[in-house]
Amino acid sequence: MGDRADSVDSAEGKRDSRLRVGVPRALAFYRHYPFWRAFLEGCGCEVIASPPTDMGIMRAGTEACVDDICVAVKALFGHAAWLAEAGVDAVLVPRMVSVEKKPYDTFTCPKLIAAPDMIRHGMPGSPEILEFVVDAKRRPWWWGCLSLGRRLGASPCRIWSAWKHGVDEQGRYEGMLRTGMMPDDALRRLEGGVEEPPAYLGQGRVAVGLVAHHYLLGDPLVNNRIVRWLHAAGARVVGSSKFTWCEIEEEADALPPLSWSYEKELLGSVARFMRSGEVDGVVYMTSFGCGPDSMIMEMVRRELRPRWKLPLLEIVLDEHSAEAGIRTRAEAFVDRLPARSVN
Ligand code: SF4
Repeated sequence: MGDRADSVDSAEGKRDSRLRVGVPRALAFYRHYPFWRAFLEGCGCEVIASPPTDMGIMRAGTEACVDDICVAVKALFGHAAWLAEAGVDAVLVPRMVSVEKKPYDTFTCPKLIAAPDMIRHGMPGSPEILEFVVDAKRRPWWWGCLSLGRRLGASPCRIWSAWKHGVDEQGRYEGMLRTGMMPDDALRRLEGGVEEPPAYLGQGRVAVGLVAHHYLLGDPLVNNRIVRWLHAAGARVVGSSKFTWCEIEEEADALPPLSWSYEKELLGSVARFMRSGEVDGVVYMTSFGCGPDSMIMEMVRRELRPRWKLPLLEIVLDEHSAEAGIRTRAEAFVDRLPARSVN
């Protein structure tokens, strides 16, 4: 990457000489892409996001991975392969170590921590991997930006303004998520071309809270278009990506302590939906082969459900999940929910 990165700062306005950085549409993409895009562009790069997951991408990812890894990581490999095929100069793969600063150690899942290593070693010959380290326990977010910006050859002044632009874009994105919109719909609206809110946020005979990691909520191929099927069955559908960390913390205070931040987010989201009365039922989606989520599922069953007794549908996804099966389960679940008196 060296030569092109070195030329980034002097290459303003010269599209051809910009470093082409690919961002795989998987895992942390659904949480931070608006920031990364604005930041990388501000540092002089051309940003290429892989397209929404399709069968070809999923097949490529499945072939590149061991069988028993989660579907989310298989999708990451598929998207990285697509970007390699597209001829990008480098691929941004974040290393999400910790996302909360606490007096005790906190972590994300081991696969999110090791994502750059998995791609580097699992896909020999792939373009250079650009790491973006998020380790909130040890270093602030801007530290990762500074180190990535320097690596791209950007001046401190330029890094600062790229960072500010990234923060603004991320704020707009998170504002959309707060409405209950799924991450893919919010990203589409952020990029323009779609104005009206998605139909599933409108009226429904019942309301359903859909709880899952952002990358499962935001990938209709991986989740078998569950949002569509729940809405078609008569539900207003609200995504768990709407909750802020403050809201999650409020719920987490009354729950067993957890060092896995994203799993705490899931548990807190189920609790919030159940306690608030905002929804009539909760659908909880996980990936087959996900160790952390299997434990959270058990905690939902044992800790939360007995307290609030709200109907709960558990769905485990993998690359073999059939859309017809998910649709039938979504319809049966919505059918048995008592209608709301007020929407
Ligand atoms: S949390 Fe679970 S689904 Fe997500 S990357 Fe880790 S193992 Fe996969």
